[in-house]
Amino acid sequence: MSETCVIVGAGQAGAQAAHSLRQGGYEGDVVMLGDEAHPPYQRPPLSKKYLSGEFEAERLWLRPTEFYEANGIDLKTGARVSAIDREGGCVVCSDGREIGYDTLLLATGTRPRALPLPGFDLPGVLPLRTLADVDALRALMAVPRRIVIVGGGYIGLEVAAVARGLGHEVMVLESQGRVLNRVVAPELSDFYAQLHLSRGVVLRFGVSAAAVEGDGQVEAVRLTSGERIDCDLVLVAVGAVPNTELAEAAGLAVDDGISVDASCRTSDPAIFAAGDCTRFPSARYGRTIRLESVQNAIDQAKAAASAILGHERTYDPVPWFWSDQYEVKLQIAGLSQMHEETKRVGDPAGGSFYIAYLRGERLLAVDSVNHPRSHMMARRSMGEVWREDLLPAG
Ligand SMILES: Cc1cc2nc3c(=O)[nH]c(=O)nc-3n(C[C@H](O)[C@H](O)[C@H](O)COP(=O)(O)OP(=O)(O)OC[C@H]3O[C@@H](n4cnc5c(N)ncnc54)[C@H](O)[C@@H]3O)c2cc1C
Repeated sequence: MSETCVIVGAGQAGAQAAHSLRQGGYEGDVVMLGDEAHPPYQRPPLSKKYLSGEFEAERLWLRPTEFYEANGIDLKTGARVSAIDREGGCVVCSDGREIGYDTLLLATGTRPRALPLPGFDLPGVLPLRTLADVDALRALMAVPRRIVIVGGGYIGLEVAAVARGLGHEVMVLESQGRVLNRVVAPELSDFYAQLHLSRGVVLRFGVSAAAVEGDGQVEAVRLTSGERIDCDLVLVAVGAVPNTELAEAAGLAVDDGISVDASCRTSDPAIFAAGDCTRFPSARYGRTIRLESVQNAIDQAKAAASAILGHERTYDPVPWFWSDQYEVKLQIAGLSQMHEETKRVGDPAGGSFYIAYLRGERLLAVDSVNHPRSHMMARRSMGEVWREDLLPAG
């Protein structure tokens, strides 16, 4: 009898895993269950060209809709898995259906971190993770708005850039002293703060939202200081939490992410996991890490598919990521946390430069602003001893 691989989550990692299984010659049944209404789609444009209206929804699809049937992938959309029965070797869907598996791959991604504060459930307060979220946001942005964005991370700033381009009033509330605080050097935070200020975004640092106020609809954000900021739309962009509940309830090891080994296998050898929902060991960084990036979702899915096909390989990538704000492209290679020193090459005033992060003598990460060559070279040079000619001149 033919084997079955069930994939839970029809996102970037799930779709890649299904594709890689077929490419690698997997002959069993592949069933992919996704709780969203759409076929697998790319999320990065959601806060960029899809929000601005430059992309139609069909341009988001990761594969043409006929791809799945043509490749023997049984894609079930609108199908939420509510439990894993490891003893019975099946997943249980929220409508009660049971689907048996020989191998299971969890690719459940993350969800936006919620702010459990008064008024954050009012109409006009939105998160941004799904196509449905952006459709709701776009509908509200069809008329001029005063938008408050809670959180000065990538998603908050990308939305700020698009919203300003569309002529909305935008204020970003950041509880820390600078934007992109967790991920980039202060110098780069300053660059981005100046960029947004020059486009008319109001940035407020060291402030926290205490509540959203309004009579049946957002009218203002109240800060912990008591200050009231009038607005009619609030975007909550304060990070994401991994969807680990299914794994945890099934007794799999979980630690801010589903714990997997270098082949993407969980603590149950019949169950793999890939993408934003996982935490994996990185020899390169000497610790376990959880990444939220397209690169990681694709590469981990390939590694998991490879292991399912019996070809184990060690997944220990140079992570990379990008962010588009206005006409500025930021490309990040490596992880800069734990750096000891930075070196800037090029002139921020000229709009094209990069910052190299070193630990000891070694290159740990590079943030490139409108400087694609340094990004590509950095991905190949990661971990090498720093010298002036390791990366291109400014
Ligand atoms: C607005 C936005 C902008 C981004 N921009 C960038 C960028 O510029 N560059 C970059 O590298 N990355 C970016 N990312 C991150 C990138 O999109 C993610 O890292 C990537 O989508 C992760 O893929 P995944 O398959 O792990 O998760 P997802 O793509 O989130 O897919 C997981 C899927 O599983 C579904 N699911 C969860 N639980 C269940 C269940 N129980 N049953 C059925 N289905 C379930 C979810 O609804 C979802 O559809 C962005 C993300 C967002 C939201």
